[in-house]
This record gives sequence, C-alpha cells and structure tokens, in this order.
Amino acid sequence: MTSEVAAVLWDMDGTLVDSEGLWSISMAQLAAHLGGELSAATREELTGSSLRRTASTVLREVGLPDDDAAVTSAGRWLLDRTHEVFSRGLPWRPGAREALATVRAAGVATALVTSTYRELTEVALDSIGREWFDVTVCGDEVSATKPDPAPYRRACELLGVDPSACVAVEDSPTGTASAAAAGATVLVVPAGPDVAAGERRYFRDTLVGFTLGDLRLLHPTSVE
Ligand SMILES: [Mg+2]
Repeated sequence: MTSEVAAVLWDMDGTLVDSEGLWSISMAQLAAHLGGELSAATREELTGSSLRRTASTVLREVGLPDDDAAVTSAGRWLLDRTHEVFSRGLPWRPGAREALATVRAAGVATALVTSTYRELTEVALDSIGREWFDVTVCGDEVSATKPDPAPYRRACELLGVDPSACVAVEDSPTGTASAAAAGATVLVVPAGPDVAAGERRYFRDTLVGFTLGDLRLLHPTSVE
C-alpha cells in the first residue's frame, strides 16, 4: 500500500522532539554568557538553523565581532550547554513516537535528517531510540546545512532512493525549504514559526493520529 513511498525522512528538532525549546534556552544562555540578550524575534528566526549561523547571529546581536574564532568558541559553548540539557532526556512532540512506530512497522525505509551535529544527535538518539532509522545525517556531515537541499540529498543517496519518491516530515521554514529543494514531498507539522504553503507541501497540526494513509495521500503517484 505504501510501496509508492520509497522512504520517510524525519527532521529531529521540533518535529520528533521538543528540542527547539531547549535550544532556545541554550541560545538565551549563550547571549547572557556573552553579556547581552537575545530578542524573541531572533530566537524564532534561528529555529532550525545551523550551529555556526546561530553562534554568529547571537554574537552580532550582543554587539560582538563574529569572526571565525569567536563563532567556533561560541558554537562550542552552545554545544556543551545543549549536550547537558539533552542528556536529561528529550520530550516527544505529540504523536511523534507513534508515527515513527507506524512507519517502522510498515517496513518503509527511514532516515533522520538533522542540522544538529553528530555528537549532540547521538545524545538525542539515546532518548529517541536508534531503531527507528536506517540512516542518520547530521549537520556536520554535509557540505551545506538546511535550507540547502544537501542534507536531504545525502540521506536519499545513503538509502539509494530518489528524493521525489520520499516524504520528509518537517516543522520549520528552513527545514521545509531544504526538503522541498531536494525534491521531496513535505509533511509540515509546524512547531514554531509559520511555514508558507507551496507545491507538494502538506500540513498537519500535529502527528497525533498519523497513519499510513497520510503517506499515501501525500505522494502524488499514489493518488493517481
Ligand atoms: Mg526542525
């Protein structure tokens, strides 16, 4: 029934787990550590961003230079702080665990495609579980991070599937842009900032009640 969908590509932060809120706290703490403050608008804008872009934006917002060394050091601080927070366990987004189990049980190939670095993703996977994913692609393992299509392309390459036959599940404008640019159909489950409507973008308020039927409807070839 779902054989038309070659793979489901899961975003992590904000889609599977409520880690965007935790990132938001780490970012605010970094700003405070650097002697400044972060506006709510900037925090929202940084949802789904890469570590370097986040560090650089925080530095500029608190009035500090964002040269390479400063970005590396602020990024390291952010990683360490978030590592500590993640290791206490991550709260699931509503319906996410059940949705992962539904896809797994159907035998559809799966990937985790995250902007989060490998070392932190491994901490998150301790609480999410590794068994849900055939492959995992992290932010420090690709030539460019979301919104660039590189992470989704890489996941499809590892799975040996065509992106156009895949469904990506995303929560942020950045992640949705990445998956769409790679050619995947996107199931958008917004967690924070609004995601603009667009071709092959489908919206759901939450993953509660997600079924294989959702995948069938999502993929154009399966509704012909
Ligand atoms: Mg996300």
